[in-house]
Amino acid sequence: MLFRSIMSCDIGVYGMGVMGRNLALNIASKGFNVAVSNRSPAKVEECIKRSQEEHLGEKVFASTSPEEFCKSLIKPRKIIILVTAGAAVDKTIESLLPYLENGDILIDGGNEWYEESIRRTRELEEKGFNFISMGVSGGEIGARHGPSLMPGGRKECYEALENILTKIAAQVDNEACVTYIGGAGSGNYVKMVHNGIEYGDMELIAEVYNMMQNAGIADDEMSSIFAQWNQGELSSYLIEITSLILAKKDTDIAGLPAQEGHLIDRILDVAGSKGTGMMTVKEAAERGVSAPTIAAALFERYISDEKDLRMRAASMISGPSFDWSSVDRQQLVSDLKDALFCSKLVAYAQGLDIIHKASQKFNWGINLGECARIWKGGCIIRAKILDQIKRAFSKDTPLDNLLLDPDFADQLVKRQQAWRRVVGLAVATGVPVPALASSLEYFDSFRAQRLPLNMIQAQRDFFGSHTFERVDQPRGQFFHCRWTSEHA
Ligand code: NAP
Repeated sequence: MLFRSIMSCDIGVYGMGVMGRNLALNIASKGFNVAVSNRSPAKVEECIKRSQEEHLGEKVFASTSPEEFCKSLIKPRKIIILVTAGAAVDKTIESLLPYLENGDILIDGGNEWYEESIRRTRELEEKGFNFISMGVSGGEIGARHGPSLMPGGRKECYEALENILTKIAAQVDNEACVTYIGGAGSGNYVKMVHNGIEYGDMELIAEVYNMMQNAGIADDEMSSIFAQWNQGELSSYLIEITSLILAKKDTDIAGLPAQEGHLIDRILDVAGSKGTGMMTVKEAAERGVSAPTIAAALFERYISDEKDLRMRAASMISGPSFDWSSVDRQQLVSDLKDALFCSKLVAYAQGLDIIHKASQKFNWGINLGECARIWKGGCIIRAKILDQIKRAFSKDTPLDNLLLDPDFADQLVKRQQAWRRVVGLAVATGVPVPALASSLEYFDSFRAQRLPLNMIQAQRDFFGSHTFERVDQPRGQFFHCRWTSEHA
């Protein structure tokens, strides 16, 4: 019999899927006694097996019933729930509640919609329980070896968990990648936007790869370029894995014989998504925040999914013809590096702006510098640039947008010609670069003293009497014009 149970576990993890199992092992490896449970017992058994293989068996205590699981926890009980987001979380909470007492803390570590967490917080607090919703980033490996953790809820509950969370989180520069984010729902929100930035970052890299490929740069050479970039200011997890992906030969697919050539060239160009990118774009719209890089990344995944239509269109609609041998490859690679740096910065600016606006709306008091700090380790968007972003938000003068930081503004100005050359070349040759281009468009709109939106206001007033403000009158005063004799 693999299962054992004791009465003195520091914390419990309910849900032994990919994330729960690995987080439980992480907790045990930091010296805490952890109780584990799951709806179906098979996954508990799997976790216990792994804990034994990893010599952590003494620290992991299994139970197959919610009652036994809750009884094994030190009071006030602390339970991390890691099940499929949505109804499964409510069902799990429902199954645990009869065995909990006032003051116990439930922590949902899933990718939950933040409004659901606000609702659960209210409902549980009414019953005398505490609820924290905590973004957990870094996938399976992060969960096992140190994720970035984004907990939101009552501060005193975070403090009760802090000792455990700071030990299990990724550690960077002697600091744990966890911080108190803010009130109910804020942890999910920050994790959601983190994923939105991740969408942007991934799409930007993919577009840079596409430009290099069009210029005739071979996979191995691209791999070396990304490896080189990973040594400098672009250093990040995603650049690192891109280099490894480009070098990978097609030899390690279970069930298929090894083949000549690189695996990347045999992967279908249809990208999936699980919802957090879409939710980020919806939230950007809800908060009135411009986030075109993140939106472009999401929409490009959607258009990628129209493979059949794209194949039909490709046979009917031709783009411009272009002789790529006329392109100076060295210059292109150098320009792509600058374009990627600038666009990546813009993606962060957009994501952080969404968080900032939501924080204002919900009074979360989120510290954007701290968000940047806790993303430095454990998570998919971990990157060297986050150090500088953290510093930008830690200066005495509050920063309303990342691009207003003088150092970043200076870097964007210095690199903009390279950025424009890349987007210009892509447009001229018909290579789609929606994220690189919309990042540049954001930059140009953001720095524009005057946009042509006076025309929009005039049109709105013309057909809908929506009124407009005037440049020669104080803001807040609205005027309507009798545009024609038919207007009132
Ligand atoms: P998973 O491997 O698919 O496992 C799902 C878990 O949810 C299983 O333990 C399953 O129990 C349980 N479950 C499903 N429906 C249930 C119900 N109605 N009642 C009780 N339990 C139920 O999931 P995962 O990848 O670990 O993800 C867990 C959460 O973490 C999700 O919110 C996910 O979005 C989030 N997350 C995942 C990743 C990742 O890389 N995988 C990264 C960050 C965050 P049974 O075994 O009984 O089916």
